[in-house]
Amino acid sequence: MFSGKTEELIRRLKRAEIARLKVEIYKPATDTRYDESAVVSHNYNSIEATPVTHSSAILLLKADTQVVGIDEAQFFDDELPEVCNKLANKGVRVIIAGLDMDFSGKPFGPVPALMAIAELVTKVNAVCVRCGSPAMYSFRRVSSEAKILLGEKESYEPRCRACFHAKD
Ligand SMILES: [Zn+2]
Repeated sequence: MFSGKTEELIRRLKRAEIARLKVEIYKPATDTRYDESAVVSHNYNSIEATPVTHSSAILLLKADTQVVGIDEAQFFDDELPEVCNKLANKGVRVIIAGLDMDFSGKPFGPVPALMAIAELVTKVNAVCVRCGSPAMYSFRRVSSEAKILLGEKESYEPRCRACFHAKD
């Protein structure tokens, strides 16, 4: 979540817009940390997005949409991979950003299934705050077993595999 996923999503979508492609962007309605209707990254680069409560709502997009961007895919329901397949099979380019692992290091929501069906997967790593190695894990600094805990800067820190398992 400090890895630049959203920045990378925004960068790719802005390039599609420069190429005059019709772009639609969606995010889960549960993610309202910064703004109701924009995908906002940690460095406040932003792009307009439609909040949806269920992935099936993405299929209601405008008929001439050529590129679909989806942010925070890990918070979507399990139908998201099927929705993305339907779009991609129609020729829509689907670009998705999401966390692949939750705070316990387990695959997160529909993201593993999305990675399996994607033509291309880019893993962008944060930097471990303890040792500076590439960080794949989100270490939860507060004690809670809830799978979803919003408000990331205070609650999580990026860690490498070794520091994640050090648990201190
Ligand atoms: Zn480390």
